[in-house]
Amino acid sequence: MTKISFDVIVCGGGLGGIACAIGLKRKGHSVTILEGSSALNEVGAGIQMPPNSVKVLKEYGIFDKFLPYVTKPKNIILRRFDTGAVLSKTPLDPDMTENYKNPYLLIHRADYQRLLYESAVELGIEYKVNSRIASVDQEAATVTLVDGTVYKADIVVGADGIRSKVRDTAVVTEETVLPLPSSNCAFRATVPRDEMLSDPVIAHLMSDVNSNCWIGYRRHVMAYPIRNGEMYNIVMSHPGQASIGKWNEPGNVDEMRNHYKNFDPVVCQLLTHVKTVLKWVLADLPMLPRWVSDSGKVVLIGDAAHAMLPYLAQGAAQAIEDGASLSDELDKCSSASDIPDALRKFERRRKRRTETIQAGARKNGHIWHLPDGEEQEERDALMKQRDGHNPDQWSDRDFQKWLFGWNAFTD
Ligand SMILES: Cc1cc2nc3c(=O)[nH]c(=O)nc-3n(C[C@H](O)[C@H](O)[C@H](O)COP(=O)(O)OP(=O)(O)OC[C@H]3O[C@@H](n4cnc5c(N)ncnc54)[C@H](O)[C@@H]3O)c2cc1C
Repeated sequence: MTKISFDVIVCGGGLGGIACAIGLKRKGHSVTILEGSSALNEVGAGIQMPPNSVKVLKEYGIFDKFLPYVTKPKNIILRRFDTGAVLSKTPLDPDMTENYKNPYLLIHRADYQRLLYESAVELGIEYKVNSRIASVDQEAATVTLVDGTVYKADIVVGADGIRSKVRDTAVVTEETVLPLPSSNCAFRATVPRDEMLSDPVIAHLMSDVNSNCWIGYRRHVMAYPIRNGEMYNIVMSHPGQASIGKWNEPGNVDEMRNHYKNFDPVVCQLLTHVKTVLKWVLADLPMLPRWVSDSGKVVLIGDAAHAMLPYLAQGAAQAIEDGASLSDELDKCSSASDIPDALRKFERRRKRRTETIQAGARKNGHIWHLPDGEEQEERDALMKQRDGHNPDQWSDRDFQKWLFGWNAFTD
């Protein structure tokens, strides 16, 4: 079969869009990314890189670039919110690295984005900033920017996040898909390494490297070191409201501390070192009727297709898997007339997996945030069972194997 090269426009240059562009470019396609912001998104927060996304980066030949910037935690530890008592421990390193042949890592979002961006530019991908998409014509496969500029392609990939214009104007046009805001927001903060080490109550969090998660009624605090131990990252889920799709809204530090005033003294002490916080609403998407336009030329990936709650730390990982599977399906085309079939096969390959993970994340949110009482006691007892089953989806042996062991190029 002769290999064919398509012109692809990727709408949105977030983690999912850039990684997808890299996957497509490596297969010989000509790729342009249209990003609405004026510069790369520099969100000051950490993100977890599970083995299923590390696998994709390795296959793309760019993983070594990440090594100086990542942290490798030993365990994911779920703790009781008020005492810090361990409820469940999921061994990550060396166990997961051996089981899944890829490590579980922690990284700063800005590093993740920059390293993907640099890899994309090295490959010859064009990344156009200040290119805000107004609409997509699915029949013509054209993208119109708010300034009136029109781009034409063989394939348009919608990687423009939870409030996707591509989705609304070209793929699910019969109704407006409204994101489903949860009743929770996340505060996000980082504390520099020296400050962490200067306080004896919290210094151990830098040397005993784990992803710690203190869970309680409607609130949890997930925290881990990032940037190869240069800073400590804290994500604090709590009841509240903020704008959907905005990543950098400032939060109120006193309000934040107040939410966690009855938490483990280690958490309270940690929060005294927080100077500023960002606030994000936690939202996901309902199940979409389709990811591919009627014409078969426009396809959704990442949060535009399957935004999920962060309680399994899989949103970006799934966006990255999407790019790998899409590149694989398009690689099987021998002419442009094969594109619609390839995009629909991609959707079939990905939709059920991502919907299952969306549901798993919702389930984790429910069980983490139980009030103290009978159900919580039952949960805590089940978390201590040694039979491999765990109500926490991250730690459940079967779910975890399916989640982390996935090969997006072949499965
Ligand atoms: C609190 C929190 C913690 C999380 N933690 C993790 C984690 O640990 N691990 C993990 O894997 N995932 C995590 N996620 C999920 C992850 O951040 C997202 O799933 C991921 O960023 C989705 O990537 P994306 O590229 O699809 O979308 P986005 O990151 O939203 O990128 C979309 C891009 O499109 C651009 N854009 C939007 N509209 C337009 C337009 N009209 N024209 C042009 N450009 C446009 C935006 O500027 C942006 O650059 C977390 C999410 C939250 C909220």
